[in-house]
Amino acid sequence: MVTAMKNLKVVKFGGSSLADAGQFKKAADIILSHPSRRFVIASAPGKRYAEDEKVTDMLYNCYNKAAGGGSFSEDFKAIEERFKEIIKGLNLSVNLDAEFKSIKDAFAHRAGRDYAASRGEYLNGIILADYLGFNFIDPAGYIRFNESGVFDLEKTIELLRPKLEEVENAVIPGFYGAMPNDTIRTFSRGGSDITGSIVARAAKADVYENWTDVSGFLICDPRIIENPKPIRTITYRELRELAYMGATVLHEDAIFPVRAAGIPINIKNTNAPEDRGTMIVAESDEVSKYVITGIAGKKGFCVIHIEKDMMNNEVGFGRNVLRALEKSDLNFEHMPSGIDTMSVIVNKECIKGKEKAVLDEIRFRVKPDSIEIEEDLALIAVVGRGMIKTRGTAGRIFSALAHARVNVKMIDQGSSELNVIVGVSEDDFDTAVKAVYDIFVLTQE
Ligand code: ASP
Repeated sequence: MVTAMKNLKVVKFGGSSLADAGQFKKAADIILSHPSRRFVIASAPGKRYAEDEKVTDMLYNCYNKAAGGGSFSEDFKAIEERFKEIIKGLNLSVNLDAEFKSIKDAFAHRAGRDYAASRGEYLNGIILADYLGFNFIDPAGYIRFNESGVFDLEKTIELLRPKLEEVENAVIPGFYGAMPNDTIRTFSRGGSDITGSIVARAAKADVYENWTDVSGFLICDPRIIENPKPIRTITYRELRELAYMGATVLHEDAIFPVRAAGIPINIKNTNAPEDRGTMIVAESDEVSKYVITGIAGKKGFCVIHIEKDMMNNEVGFGRNVLRALEKSDLNFEHMPSGIDTMSVIVNKECIKGKEKAVLDEIRFRVKPDSIEIEEDLALIAVVGRGMIKTRGTAGRIFSALAHARVNVKMIDQGSSELNVIVGVSEDDFDTAVKAVYDIFVLTQE
């Protein structure tokens, strides 16, 4: 058994970090620069340039052709080429011809979409292990799902932990594991992030480094604000709030395995390894210079406004409204209410085609004085653990919006005081985000 090491790191490299031989070299330099980086999770090769195709997408497309009974040789050859190019660029002697042949046969025999998609990580993992001189661990034997296809953390830890204790180091392909009958099962897209988190938990790592092509999270979407400031530290709860509102860098489910064990995640940039990146932690006393941690938002909501005198005295009013939604199989996002009013925010896509049924059902159940539906609502979440301690945050948000001439249609402050959510018209979305960014960030510079 290998002795436990202090400062053990589990490191995951995303698709763009392993897209070609040049990126492999950068990743290997990072991994080998410190012996604490013992367990490495590999994604499939991603895009080498903007219009390029990810190997995972190539695999899905190729498999669809195979499963449809069409010819897929050309597509398969293009996939082979991606891997051969990496092997050649790294001057390795590893030969994957036997692997290619058995995968191609499996495609012809319709081995399943998940199996097909997983081969990108599998092959890239073999190459990376060879290049680093690390062991290779196929997650099929260790990362386990139950009969219903739900990931089984307990079983996985039970199998994976002793395996990791046996080896000095290893490369483990991301994205997949296996069902009780040993068929391959993948997580949803971007799922190598989840594998990294699981391995960090099983290895009892001190930190889970997630290497990607950006230097961590930014306070705001760079498509709205040019060069927004990076977020140095964010808590898991803040991240949940921002991710729900569309901030993406890390797969949403990747935080759960490490969060329970208090293992921080450090988002790092393979192309700028010196950058500090973002630390995702359980709790932090480090107060952000800007009070807020991040701003995120999404378009595509609508509000059902309900009004009825004395609504506040009516027992079961809220339940009846929600049951009307339930009948149409709809969930709600937020539900701010006043004494005689209630607004239910729902996703525009989800309610499409069901509007009449939902409103009729609410009318039938609660007999409102008025009910109407308003479309084209955008929600903006201003998130920050610093808001709990700082007076006047909400005031600053609303005066900034007023100055920018943005009409606020809805306000919801989570009970945790971690976030303020405002609803504005979709047309005002960018202006509103800019106004909030300016008041909290630009004025602090
Ligand atoms: N290669 C997979 C995808 O493209 C999984 C991952 O990269 O995390 O979704």
